[in-house]
Amino acid sequence: MRVLLVEDDPSLGSVVQRGLVEDGHAVDWERTLAAANEAVRLNPYQLIVLDLGLPDGDGLDLCRQLRADGDSARVLLLTARDSLGDKVTGLDAGADDYLTKPFDSPELSARVRALLRRPDDARTPQLAVDDVELDPAAHSVKRAGVQVPLTAREFQLLHFLMDRAGQVVPRTDLLEAVWDANYDGLSNVVDVHVGNLRRKLEMPESPSPIETVRGVGYRIGGPSHGAAE
Ligand code: CA
Repeated sequence: MRVLLVEDDPSLGSVVQRGLVEDGHAVDWERTLAAANEAVRLNPYQLIVLDLGLPDGDGLDLCRQLRADGDSARVLLLTARDSLGDKVTGLDAGADDYLTKPFDSPELSARVRALLRRPDDARTPQLAVDDVELDPAAHSVKRAGVQVPLTAREFQLLHFLMDRAGQVVPRTDLLEAVWDANYDGLSNVVDVHVGNLRRKLEMPESPSPIETVRGVGYRIGGPSHGAAE
């Protein structure tokens, strides 16, 4: 398999690279976020082994971008951070698994084998709530069969809401899921983007399927609807 390793630590990187090569993978090793971004633009990878703390940014930004682009590469995070919050943030950003440093080569090999066994279609199920359909792999959204063009952020917001259809999703959860941890821009950024998303989903005969739950957040598919599988 073609694997991208993103790790700035030379000794850890060479251990991981050697382990992956010994397991029969073709490994491209990049040391910075910028180089990794360029590599994923140019090459199809089945797996990305991704350090979070890179000299020029956060590995999670690459992970979020891959998911926003509908890339189905498996992402295995290598992280020195072992707090629950960082793991949850990583998985919410679209990572498939994580290894907390230090780890040994057999553990890395086992995790990689497990990730590459997982079938593609199980990773990216299509979502449907009422007449809204979202295809994560194709990065496409339709309402009543009509394509709705969305920005990357709007797509991620809708995906997050549809994954939790029927539940009220707090603004803070949306902010954490769709913006990076260090976002310090407009405090109403979630409302602004959800507002745009709602307008795009409106149709002449039917209102937007996203409800505002005052003081709390947003919901798609009210309690009486639920998600279609
Ligand atoms: Ca690092």
